[in-house]
Amino acid sequence: MSGRVLDGAVVAAVVLDETSRRVAALGERGKPVGLATVLVGDDPASQVYVRNKRRTAEKVGITSFHHDLPAGASQDEVEAFIARLNADAAVDGILLQLPLPEGLDGERAVAVIDPAKDVDGLHPANLGRLVLDRPGLAPCTPSGVLRILDHYGISTDGADVVVVGRSFLVGRPLSILLSSRTRNATVTLAHSRTRHLAALCARADILVAAVGRPRMITAEYVKEGATVIDVGVNRTEDGLVGDVDFEAVSAKAAAITPVPGGVGPMTIAMLMANTVTAAETGLAGPAGGGVTK
Ligand code: NAP
Repeated sequence: MSGRVLDGAVVAAVVLDETSRRVAALGERGKPVGLATVLVGDDPASQVYVRNKRRTAEKVGITSFHHDLPAGASQDEVEAFIARLNADAAVDGILLQLPLPEGLDGERAVAVIDPAKDVDGLHPANLGRLVLDRPGLAPCTPSGVLRILDHYGISTDGADVVVVGRSFLVGRPLSILLSSRTRNATVTLAHSRTRHLAALCARADILVAAVGRPRMITAEYVKEGATVIDVGVNRTEDGLVGDVDFEAVSAKAAAITPVPGGVGPMTIAMLMANTVTAAETGLAGPAGGGVTK
């Protein structure tokens, strides 16, 4: 058996197409959509990520306002800058590229972002809504994983799902979304202290790897006919590889995301979708209709 490849680029294109239509509809109502990106310091990988986000924003008709702050900026300066963007009516979404340089507290800075403009979905208020199963801006990578499953008609209802990795960026919010009353999965959240990990994973109908260890999920971790979602992005001598041993696992799984071209493109697409959601919600007023999960 060779697993069906779940093509993130295809799903991302659908999301971006929808997003550009929503942006155009707001434009017809006289509301341009704006995304502010903030990069502190000059980390080359972060520069690439921000550039890709800005390019994608422009492609879907979102105006991008980019701001470079020096690596030596203080915590107060970064937070004061974010406060200015909070007050700027042309800015619907604020993306603070993480991680921040040594000595700065990214979590504290994110907490200064107006939750209504927090398009990364990482503000404590938005993470709180996630836990409460209420509409809000959800983190982009977990939302992207769900969107891939939806696109390919893979139901999570009643499914046994194992998520490996419990970061606040990916694994933990994804486990919460999957166990919501709309998704109804039975979720196990595994991490570096989990015992008998391979046997645990091998019981999953849907296995998600969000660890950051190249090809650690071998065929032994996978049940015949399972869906495998690989969030990992690891730079190795062989180029970019995921957390899943794609060749061996795709022979056993019914469906699998590749790296690159799986979850990666979804993260940026969901950021754009969140930005237009923030703009729509702003237009609807503080009571906010139109926010989706
Ligand atoms: P992270 O913050 O480093 O978290 C990694 C998680 O994996 C931790 O919970 C850790 O457990 C767990 N872990 C580490 N070694 C393990 C092991 N041997 N067995 C089981 N669990 C283990 O990483 P992250 O930010 O979530 O990112 C994870 C991966 O996804 C990375 O490769 C990253 O580049 C990628 N990523 C991709 C996208 C995308 O758009 N495709 C977006 C974000 C991240 P402990 O909590 O016990 O330490």
